[in-house]
Amino acid sequence: MTASPTLSVVEKSPIKEIDTDPAEKPAQVYSTLKALAFQDRIDALREERLAAPVNIRIKPINHCNHDCWYCAYRVSNLQLGEDMNLRDAIPEAKMMEIIDDIGVMGVKAVTFTGGGEPLIYKPIAECVRRLAGYGVKVGSLTNGSNLKGEVADAFAEHGTWLRVSIDGWDGKSYGEARNVGEKSFDKLVANMADFVKRGSKCILGASIIIGERNHTHLYELCSKLKDAGLEQIKLAGVIVSNHGAENNAYHRELKPRVTEEIARVKNLNDDQFHVVDHYHELDERFQRRYHFCPTIQFTPVIGADSVVYACQDKAYTEQGALGSLKDRSFKDFWFSEENRKRAFAIDPAAHCPHNCANHQKNVVVTDFMATDEEHLMFV
Ligand code: SF4
Repeated sequence: MTASPTLSVVEKSPIKEIDTDPAEKPAQVYSTLKALAFQDRIDALREERLAAPVNIRIKPINHCNHDCWYCAYRVSNLQLGEDMNLRDAIPEAKMMEIIDDIGVMGVKAVTFTGGGEPLIYKPIAECVRRLAGYGVKVGSLTNGSNLKGEVADAFAEHGTWLRVSIDGWDGKSYGEARNVGEKSFDKLVANMADFVKRGSKCILGASIIIGERNHTHLYELCSKLKDAGLEQIKLAGVIVSNHGAENNAYHRELKPRVTEEIARVKNLNDDQFHVVDHYHELDERFQRRYHFCPTIQFTPVIGADSVVYACQDKAYTEQGALGSLKDRSFKDFWFSEENRKRAFAIDPAAHCPHNCANHQKNVVVTDFMATDEEHLMFV
């Protein structure tokens, strides 16, 4: 189990102190260590082959009914989505074919995400039910505007989690951040409260992207979300640049006030509600010292253009494209030699000098793979 000689690894895992007591409830749902539960996938990487992905992020549609000021797929100074076509959506028949492949390949979970707003994809409820029929777990990122009716029914019955992105703290600020009407905030809070009332096992959480507009209102917003019955809130800093120094300069101005707000927000934690602070993860994350990418094995992306991509940060870029599903099935493509060669040709140290949401997870896996098997038992 020593590292493959071609898989050069020099970086040590930057595991940070976890701010959750393991005995605390609700149990933490975010961890950089999850990949270590899938030894067969790590073995595949060691042998420079690809097993079935663990979790596929599917972008069913690129259209969005909101227009957020910080959306990485829509602002021009970020690498995300440079080749994205706003009119793309995975054709329904192709989507069902992909889901059937996922069901037989042994993929464990699907996360629906953007591109656009996944819950306005017309067949989304059927997708959730069909995946659940195969025993595949389902989660989704969403703006929550369509979390109602049949869509809410499907997630309440079959979903594992939903995470609503939210930034404004009232009608005016929410409308301005997203270019939507001022009533949208109250409608969203009502959608979330109604979903909670169903008593579903599907965890409803929120993701707050912190920037200069909202950084003094975090406590106010989190209090409202707790009152609506949400269980988890993730806090993270907005990405404003592909360059780490520019990003850090932006947040250096905000950080003292954000730190105060987050300290207040954490006072809201109790048995039913937990705030996860990822704001600190902005530091120096644009440098990679590993030469293959575990994320491709664990969490690849299928875009609304029916193309498979290495990860969410490289979706809709030529560099991140592994191959198209337009004329072939996902299963056939994933296990092809063409895909294997393309996946292992991506060298993060050379090709990824930009934000990478999976960097810490990649470091954990590559560090583990570099560990000498003769020393594993010296725990
Ligand atoms: S290192 Fe990060 S950005 Fe690069 S391919 Fe892997 S997950 Fe994507």
